[in-house]
Amino acid sequence: MSSVAPSVSPRTARPSHAPAPNPWTMALRQLHDTAGRLQLDPAIHARLASCQRELTVHFPVRLDDGTTKIVTGYRIHHSLARGPVKGGLRYAPGVSLDEVRALAMWMTWKSALVGLPYGGAKGAVDCDPKRLSAGELERLTRRFATELSVLVSPDRDIPAPDIGTDARVMAWFMDTYSMHIGHSEPGVVTGKPVSIGGSEGRFEATGRGVALCTRWAAERLAIPLANAAVVVQGFGNVGAVTARLLHEYGCKVVAVSEIKGGIYNPKGIDIRALRLYHQEHGSIADFPGTTPVSNAELLELPCDVLVPAAVEGQITSLNAGRLRCKLIAEGANGPTTPDADSILAERGISIMPDILCNSGGVIVSYFEWVQDLQFFFWAEDEVNERLRHIMGRAFDALWERADMTQQTLRAAALDIAVSRVAEALTVRGLYP
Ligand code: NAD
Repeated sequence: MSSVAPSVSPRTARPSHAPAPNPWTMALRQLHDTAGRLQLDPAIHARLASCQRELTVHFPVRLDDGTTKIVTGYRIHHSLARGPVKGGLRYAPGVSLDEVRALAMWMTWKSALVGLPYGGAKGAVDCDPKRLSAGELERLTRRFATELSVLVSPDRDIPAPDIGTDARVMAWFMDTYSMHIGHSEPGVVTGKPVSIGGSEGRFEATGRGVALCTRWAAERLAIPLANAAVVVQGFGNVGAVTARLLHEYGCKVVAVSEIKGGIYNPKGIDIRALRLYHQEHGSIADFPGTTPVSNAELLELPCDVLVPAAVEGQITSLNAGRLRCKLIAEGANGPTTPDADSILAERGISIMPDILCNSGGVIVSYFEWVQDLQFFFWAEDEVNERLRHIMGRAFDALWERADMTQQTLRAAALDIAVSRVAEALTVRGLYP
């Protein structure tokens, strides 16, 4: 590796005719619409429409060639109303403050919707982790963890993995924090390796939750899952696990993609063989028996279930009219813009909204944190069963509300989540 500077923008996968939607504008629009439906107190609405704390850091990283590079990172706390804040760390080229703000706000709604005692946060570093050596990535992470030490601790702010970060990055983060305080503190991050206080089941939790939500929604919508055609955008932690579990449920995964493009076989792709191929080649490109598709084409393939599991702003007013699926299960955060939501609702395409559909990750992160605080660890079966219970309860409540109010699932989910956070703010009162 030679440079920490952004090389490929995560938005280069977008078709050239499509402007990148600003995620913070999307998140604010969702909040404003929700506030209107709930007739929210304007003072509470105003508090929720801004992030409570925003830290930007610029710090040097020593590169392998002996030079140093100044890198920019962020940690944002959207709302502390319901408890310590929780949210992932994203390492991606070109990541912006507005992207992190939106992701932090969505974390607030997600935790409230599934009933976790957390507020929402997110962090990011503008870098391309694929172009960093392991040593550079470790030095960047340890310095970033140190810069964030003014905010993080097990009772205040607990980071986790997101795009471009993984269990190894969390281990470095946990070790750095522990070195500073002089004893091991596993509860400062989640998504760690099991050997240092990580939870069984955490690695698969987000994809497991997406697969469960897909199954429950398909049942309610009378979409038989046996042989259902599934398209998955993104073959990282969330996309690959979702694809594997849906494959195990009997679905036919016909297309998957990564940032550079995707592969398609209308007869179905052997996901287990694809995972091995991906491990060996570092890419899914040219997997035998498939034809290449671009990310834009992939979203418009005919299928029963479309799982966007890559980045935000993929389904917009420009392509929503051309999607050919029955159900969208949002593995990614914010993959669908509010304008696209309206078009899809008119077209009768159901959306399992991100704040429930991908909540498996934060739910099992919560379990990991609870286990770390108690130094008492659970078996994988117990973790998965508790995950199923919490998500199932939230799913049933959401479906019931959407049915009762004749709203989309997203509107019903936001109504439940925002009203819970608003209630917390109201009962706590205004300090001073
Ligand atoms: P990851 O880094 O493991 O994988 C991301 C995948 O998306 C990769 O295959 C990458 O090639 C692809 N990708 C990146 N940019 C793309 C683009 N512009 N177009 C198409 N593909 C692109 O990340 P992840 O942890 O799987 O996260 C994916 C999404 O799920 C993100 O929106 C993240 O916020 C969300 N999410 C993750 C978790 C978690 O536990 N990891 C939890 C909840 C939500």
